[in-house]
Amino acid sequence: MLFVEAKWLYNDALTFMNDHDINDYDSKTLTVHVLDKDRQPVTHELRYLSSQMRQSVIQGIKNNMKSLATLRKHDRKTGSLKYKSEYLSINLQQSGVTYKFYDKRHIRIQGFKKGIRIEGTNQFWNIPSLEFANAKLLNLPDGYYIAITTYQTKRSEERKYKPSIGIDMGIKTTITVSDGRKVKVLVEESERLKKCQRLIARRKKGSNNRYKAGKLLRRAYQKLGSKKRDAANKIVHELLEHERLYMQDENISGWHKGLFGRTVQHSVLGLVKAKLMKNERVTVLPKSAPTTKYCPHCGKLKKDITLFDRVYECTCGYREDRDIHAARNMILLSGLSTCGTQEINAFGEDVRHWQNSAVQPR
Ligand SMILES: [Zn+2]
Repeated sequence: MLFVEAKWLYNDALTFMNDHDINDYDSKTLTVHVLDKDRQPVTHELRYLSSQMRQSVIQGIKNNMKSLATLRKHDRKTGSLKYKSEYLSINLQQSGVTYKFYDKRHIRIQGFKKGIRIEGTNQFWNIPSLEFANAKLLNLPDGYYIAITTYQTKRSEERKYKPSIGIDMGIKTTITVSDGRKVKVLVEESERLKKCQRLIARRKKGSNNRYKAGKLLRRAYQKLGSKKRDAANKIVHELLEHERLYMQDENISGWHKGLFGRTVQHSVLGLVKAKLMKNERVTVLPKSAPTTKYCPHCGKLKKDITLFDRVYECTCGYREDRDIHAARNMILLSGLSTCGTQEINAFGEDVRHWQNSAVQPR
């Protein structure tokens, strides 16, 4: 009901804005006038939404108006605020007032007579000097959540890193690390998701059954999203155990089209890359660095290597798995000489150029 009432209040305030200033809206109001699903005017009493929550709904509108105004000032095209059919997130400002832990598994939310049991709080209790800040009550496809912002002191211990690595993000479904590891980055669509898609296609538009099927589908997609984020987090965590990381600026979004189509859609490569780019220990080599062409043994550039050659072979006798070869070269070409077993004998002129132009991520 909190979410329903928040929606009513939001829509009522939007109607009010037709001929008034939002700053004159009385957020203490307990009666709202909205349209029901047959577009007939109805009046509702707000019974559950606390005054803090009501304020945060109205504040949300004010913030949106402000950002729209800023956009307009910069000559950007803007729309206007639209009526909502669902309200999915309610701010809980002021920890201790709007929400409060009263033991390790129960939380008290303003407006509720009883405590609510919540899962997933174990992450909190071992952290020294933890402070709770504001929170958000979320209405997600698979249930209700509370997202809590916390403050904690930064740990400043000296970290021991593993040796630096190069990372080849192949066109295929794996990430190859210069130490020879290959990490699978595919998350598969669940059978349930496919089933839901078929189900929704069979239901009549506008019917209640279709609405229900839509709900199931959204839930399946949320699950897929969580799975992908989880997989990406685990991979990134493991890669960042290493002191420095070298990767190449390749066009991942381009892979969605063409050759590999659908499989790439559920690859977490993009997520992994985005996360890595934010880290200061990651160096990104330009797209044009010859990581595939360069022979680390004799320094020659092999011009005629294609996407389909899975093994790199040089006339000097050097031979290596194509992806491992590329990953190792990333370290070499950004100027480090400790990489795998091969000694570098020669650097061609253009290779020196790539060393100089290796870029740092923003
Ligand atoms: Zn060679």
